Amino acid sequence: GSTIGILGGGQLGRMIASAAAQLGYRTHVLAPDRESVAAQTASSLTRADYHNRIVLADFAAQCDVVTYEFENIAVEPVAWLGDRVPVHPSPVSLRVAQDRLAEKAFVADLGGTPARWAAVDSRAALDAAIATIGTPAVLKTTRMGYDGKGQARLMSAADADAAWEAVGGPAVLEAFVTFTHEFSILLVRDHHGNMVSYPPPWNEHADGILARSTVPAPAPIAAHWTQAAALTGRIADALGHVGMLTCEFFATADGPVFNEMAPRVHNSGHWTIEGAVTSQFENHVRAICGLPLGDTGLTGTAVTMENLIGEEADCWAELLAEPGAHLHLYGKRESRPGRKMGHVTRVTR
Ligand code: ATP
Ligand code: MG
Ligand code: MG
Repeated sequence: GSTIGILGGGQLGRMIASAAAQLGYRTHVLAPDRESVAAQTASSLTRADYHNRIVLADFAAQCDVVTYEFENIAVEPVAWLGDRVPVHPSPVSLRVAQDRLAEKAFVADLGGTPARWAAVDSRAALDAAIATIGTPAVLKTTRMGYDGKGQARLMSAADADAAWEAVGGPAVLEAFVTFTHEFSILLVRDHHGNMVSYPPPWNEHADGILARSTVPAPAPIAAHWTQAAALTGRIADALGHVGMLTCEFFATADGPVFNEMAPRVHNSGHWTIEGAVTSQFENHVRAICGLPLGDTGLTGTAVTMENLIGEEADCWAELLAEPGAHLHLYGKRESRPGRKMGHVTRVTR
């Protein structure tokens, strides 16, 4: 069989590797260290030195196709790999999705509606941004943020010093969105341009971290589904994206407001492992390997996915005893507050 290369060593890579194995592929992970949880599931591992050409050339030589499980990786080495082996999604998707300013401009160009925003690269620029955007607002680091890290809320202009201290620049100031619900569009596109998307999950967050996804989503989200899915499709087409693409939205009285995109499988799609006919991980593998895309329909009438964060993963014995609860543990050695340790999915038949 062929070998899929995965850049990154987290639980998303681990779950891609499981789906790949089911379809007969080997996986080769390029990750920071042997502790990487993806390495426990992959066929082989190379210690990541994303800027070492010898390491990269060796990795490229061992893989038939390369993908990535996180967007916080420099574009340059990924583009270098892309000259030697097919990389899906392409470095174009990576470049846009790893930079909040680039992704907002890209999406607005395609008719999407992000929250009003302004670029902030100095303390003075933050004052100017507050003057145009107003408060409440959220200051977010332009790159490298995840799980709500690298963000600060400003209730008024008086919070500017603290926000700048906490986040710094380059950053983006966003108007605070009043929403009823959050949801995501999980879409997969193949290299012919065929696309399918999953029924959108309602995503509930706690402290900036995804806590729970529920499908089918309640009515206010269903009303925004068509519009949000169409936008996500336009984004995927415009990027020439191959693989999974996830867009997060706020459901508001004025329609779906775009929050951010991820050029990859996504935590809000973990419910698809047991809750959809074809999981997001399998569909990602199918897309990047040139196989036909799979059915995204539900396997039951309703699905919930709850993240096990920090110490919450200690309740695994209880969850194993619960009929119908599907427990996933990521094999992380240490639990830390706010760290995603696993998840549990329940499907109502
Ligand atoms: P991840 O990539 O893990 O989803 P992140 O660090 O990129 O997270 P965001 O998705 O930008 O963070 O924000 C995290 C959460 O904070 C959102 O899901 C939402 O609940 C809240 N939030 C972010 N931006 C806004 C906003 N402009 N208005 C209201 N709430 C917001
Ligand atoms: Mg994000
Ligand atoms: Mg997010």
